[in-house]
Amino acid sequence: MLKNHLLKAIPKVDKFIEHSDFENLSKPIIMPLIRESFDLLRAELLSAKVHSVNEDKLRQNILVKYNDIMTPSLQKVINATGVIVHTNLGRSLINPESFDKAKEIATSYNNLEYDLDKGKRGERYSHLSKLFTKLLDCEDVLVVNNNASAVFLILNTFAKRKEVIVSRGELVEIGGSFRIPEVMKNSGAKLVEVGATNKTHLCDYEENITERTKMLMKVHKSNYSIEGFTSEVAFKEIAKLAKEKGLIDYFDLGSGHLVDLPYGLSHSEPSLHEIMKDDPSLLSFSGDKLFGSVQAGIIVGKKELIAKLKKNQLLRMLRVDKLTLSILTQDIQSMLLNRYENLPTLGMLFKDVDTLKKNAQVLTDEIKDLVTCEIIETTTLIGGGSTPNKKIPSIAVTIALKNYSPNKIQKLFREKNIIGRIENEKFLLDFRTIDINDIQYLSESIKCLATS
Ligand SMILES: *Cc1c(COP(=O)(O)O)cnc(C)c1O
Repeated sequence: MLKNHLLKAIPKVDKFIEHSDFENLSKPIIMPLIRESFDLLRAELLSAKVHSVNEDKLRQNILVKYNDIMTPSLQKVINATGVIVHTNLGRSLINPESFDKAKEIATSYNNLEYDLDKGKRGERYSHLSKLFTKLLDCEDVLVVNNNASAVFLILNTFAKRKEVIVSRGELVEIGGSFRIPEVMKNSGAKLVEVGATNKTHLCDYEENITERTKMLMKVHKSNYSIEGFTSEVAFKEIAKLAKEKGLIDYFDLGSGHLVDLPYGLSHSEPSLHEIMKDDPSLLSFSGDKLFGSVQAGIIVGKKELIAKLKKNQLLRMLRVDKLTLSILTQDIQSMLLNRYENLPTLGMLFKDVDTLKKNAQVLTDEIKDLVTCEIIETTTLIGGGSTPNKKIPSIAVTIALKNYSPNKIQKLFREKNIIGRIENEKFLLDFRTIDINDIQYLSESIKCLATS
């Protein structure tokens, strides 16, 4: 009897939803949440777990769940790790100017596949080839979804049921699940491993060429280095051998860059211009690693080979859309005008240590009365598989908060979408990757953490 009386106290859904707190909320989301919580409440009343109906509390619980669902999970974060091309944090940042221009094109009709001269169907890749062939002095270019797609498309087009020779020292696995041997298998190409893990010579390639060989491939050791008693064959020599034998030479470069790298990195990582001098038949790299643009796989090389790639049905599945094409086109224009500082990735890479120090000082001036902090000299990584194991100089601010452990501080910052790192048992914010416009938010967040 008593229970029946309590059950009657559960409000009617139609009435309950009329409360002003629920105004302007999404019905398809809020209705099931209300029903769910009423069902739960009914069960709890019947089992005497609860003994009354509190409408305010019910409403609050439902709103918490609603907000949890409606808050987009993809959010802005502040990268204070110092790793510039951070794959988990979105890799290369898009140049805002290029994005603005792309917005105009992508939010209106455009000539993506329309030839304005002839008044008939055109080709989406044509918008890029004009500029790109000038930038890299190459015969032709093709752009696909990412570099993994580029590798797959190239192997599938030219080496299906044929053999591709790769050095044992270059059978790389890139973060996630991109492994050269597996990609090759799925593309239909047969991998022929040559040499040893630490040493491969030109004769290893030469001696393994058979009538089934179609391609000699070099893969950039993007996230590891082999030290000690080692030797690898330069792409130049591989390309020369391939041409002598009537084979295709292909360099999967991973992270290609146009400008000479600072901090003495340029001799170990040649620029795209340098590699183009080796006359590659095919070369592919990511658009959003050190190239500094959008996610894309950029393939450059011989016109007749690119034409064959364009005929592969797979391309339809790997194609890029108008946003990618227009941002990339804008960025390439900037590059042709030598405005590399417009590209955020390169801007961060070339920022001098004194500027980083000044930025760090702006933050510490704001927070030094609230937390224990110190500006330190440190080193960081470029990331994105560009220069494995090579450190570049940076400046960081260490932060100690109450009696918290570095792990606890790191977690508290993470709750505010600030991703820092721990070094020598200290939590720190690395200024190599912090935008000056984000310092205000950083200082407000730190004040909030220090006073809560
Ligand atoms: C990064 C990388 C890839 C994959 O490129 P995505 O653009 O991430 O698809 C392939 N090969 C090498 C050598 C790489 O470094």
